[in-house]
Amino acid sequence: MKYAIVNGERSEARRGLVGECPACTSETIAKCGDIYAHHWAHKGRRICDPWWENETEWHRVWKNLFPAEWQEVVHLADDGEKHIADVQTEDGWTIEFQHSLIKPEERISREEFYENLVWVVDGKLRPTYEERFLKSLEYAPLPIPNFPVARFRDVKGRLLDQWAGRPVHVLIDFGEQKPLWWLIPKQGIRGQWITRVSREQFVQALGPKNERGESDFARTAKNYIEVIRNFEAMEQRARTIRTTTVDPLAFRRRGGVRRRGPGWRL
Ligand SMILES: [Zn+2]
Repeated sequence: MKYAIVNGERSEARRGLVGECPACTSETIAKCGDIYAHHWAHKGRRICDPWWENETEWHRVWKNLFPAEWQEVVHLADDGEKHIADVQTEDGWTIEFQHSLIKPEERISREEFYENLVWVVDGKLRPTYEERFLKSLEYAPLPIPNFPVARFRDVKGRLLDQWAGRPVHVLIDFGEQKPLWWLIPKQGIRGQWITRVSREQFVQALGPKNERGESDFARTAKNYIEVIRNFEAMEQRARTIRTTTVDPLAFRRRGGVRRRGPGWRL
């Protein structure tokens, strides 16, 4: 962890300091070696939060893009379950930075525990992830005019197998110089919607709330979802019309026997 409580204050690790875990209050020791970023470790046992992932440089760089008071925020559920969120924004988004593989059950538990979860996933975990991802993207059309959101019909590769179709926002990070690929929460049944955003735009959008009390991220996310829902509803209506329209010509030719459903043709 980056923070522990020392003399009642959140403090970063410094050599020789002893602190208290903000989640379970047990003793933590400052680890200040040369290899890993300075951090706190629980004395004599594993961390109290089973969801906690060993922190890498990648985690640290991401967290540090946000204000210190948004980092490592303890969440307590009504039933007493406690977890430490990587980042908690002012308007209530929890950002979890996921470097390693995660079990499907744990992914679902976290999506249910946090009210507004955003995953940021390390796309560099496997060298093949990016190539397979970009290959899939070649077959993803942008069906909504003047709206920069593509739709994967089917997803391929281990990265998308894990992260497509989630009910929450997922951003995939392929490296600092590259755009973040933003998987929009699953809407209808016809594929995964995706857009892209720069790292700076993403971080800034999560930033301070605007006069309406929400972040630009919240506003943008709502807008994407609304446009996508309207588009999917329109597609659905078009399909319904195609399958239920009675063609009067065909009706006469077939001697007045009404037939319904697909397959109603001349
Ligand atoms: Zn603890």
